[in-house]
Amino acid sequence: MTSAVKTEFGLIETYFNQQGSHREDVDLAIGDDGALMTVPDGHQLVVSTDTMVLGTHFLSDADPAWVGHKALSSNLSDIIAMGATPTWVSLALTLPAIDEQWLQGFCDGFFTLAKDYNVTLVGGDTTSGPLAITVTIHGTVPRGEAWLRCNAKVGDKIYVSAELGDSQAGLDYVLDPRLESDVKSTLLSRHFRRYPPLSLVKSLSGKICCALDISDGLIADLGHILKASQVGAVIDADKLPLSAELITHCEGDEQRAKQMALASGEEYALCFTAPAALELHDLPVHCIGHITDSAHLEITTAGKPVTWPLKGYDHFGKTDES
Ligand code: ADP
Ligand code: MG
Repeated sequence: MTSAVKTEFGLIETYFNQQGSHREDVDLAIGDDGALMTVPDGHQLVVSTDTMVLGTHFLSDADPAWVGHKALSSNLSDIIAMGATPTWVSLALTLPAIDEQWLQGFCDGFFTLAKDYNVTLVGGDTTSGPLAITVTIHGTVPRGEAWLRCNAKVGDKIYVSAELGDSQAGLDYVLDPRLESDVKSTLLSRHFRRYPPLSLVKSLSGKICCALDISDGLIADLGHILKASQVGAVIDADKLPLSAELITHCEGDEQRAKQMALASGEEYALCFTAPAALELHDLPVHCIGHITDSAHLEITTAGKPVTWPLKGYDHFGKTDES
C-alpha cells in the first residue's frame, strides 16, 4: 500500500504523540531527549521491559491490533505482579518498512488497552530492521509494599487469578491454522487478548507480599517463588480453574486440560501466596495449594502425587522437565 507517512518523525507524530491516557504526573512526554514524570511521595518506582519478536512471539499473519494489545498486556502483567499500579510506558519499535495499515492496527490495540489501564506513552525509539517491539513499563508502589518472589512462607495458601490453560490452547490454533473447533475463535482471542488483573492490586495491597505473573507456565513460574523463598509446595490439580472452552478443546479429557493449565505460558494471570487466615472469598481468585517446608513441588490429583511429564517454556533451553 502507498504510505502518506514517509519519515521516522512523521511516523512518531502521526501514531505515537499524545496517545494513551492523559496523566497529571507526566511533566514532559514525547519530543525531548527524555521524559519527565513525578513519582508520588512515599512510593517506589517499578520498571520492567518485555520484547516481542516476529516469529517468536507472534507470526506475520497475526492481527496487528492483537499484537499491540499483547505487547502492552505482557508488560502491564509484570507491574501488576509487583503489586504496583502501572503508570507510564515507552515503546521501542523496529519496523522493516512503514506499513500504515499494520501501524494503525497495532496502535488501536496498544492504545485502547493503555487507556483502559490509565497508562501514558511517554517516549520510545523507532528504528528500521526485522520487526520487534520492546515495551518498557513503569509503575508505582507504596514504599516497602511490593510483592516479591522471595516472600512466600510455609503454610501460606497459593492462589491464581484466572482460569489457566486457554493461552496454550489458543496457541495450538495459531501454530496449526488447519485446526478447527467451535472454541477456536474464543481461545485465539484469549491467547492474544489478556487483561491483567489490576483490580487485585487494590484489593490485595498491604495484605499479601509474594506474587508473580504466569508467563512461562504455572509450574515453571511457581518454581521461581519456591527457589527464591527456599520453600516447597503442594498443588492440587483438581482445584485448577479450567474454562469450559479448554475442556471442549481437550475433547472432554480433564487430565489433559489440567496438564495444559499447569504448563500454559503467556497466561498473564497472577499467582500469589497469602497467609492461610486471610479471607479472600469475595475476590475472583482460586486457591490451588499451599507452601510447604519441603524442597520440592508436588502435584496431586485425587489425593495422590501425579507423574505427568510437565514442561515450562525457556527461550534458550526449549523446555524444562519439572
Ligand atoms: P533521540 O534521537 O533524542 O533519541 P528520537 O529521534 O529517537 O530522539 O525520538 C524523538 C522523540 O520521539 C523522543 O522523545 C522519543 O522518546 C520519541 N519516540 C521515538 N520513537 C517513539 C515511539 N515508537 N513511541 C513513542 N515515542 C517515540
Ligand atoms: Mg532515539
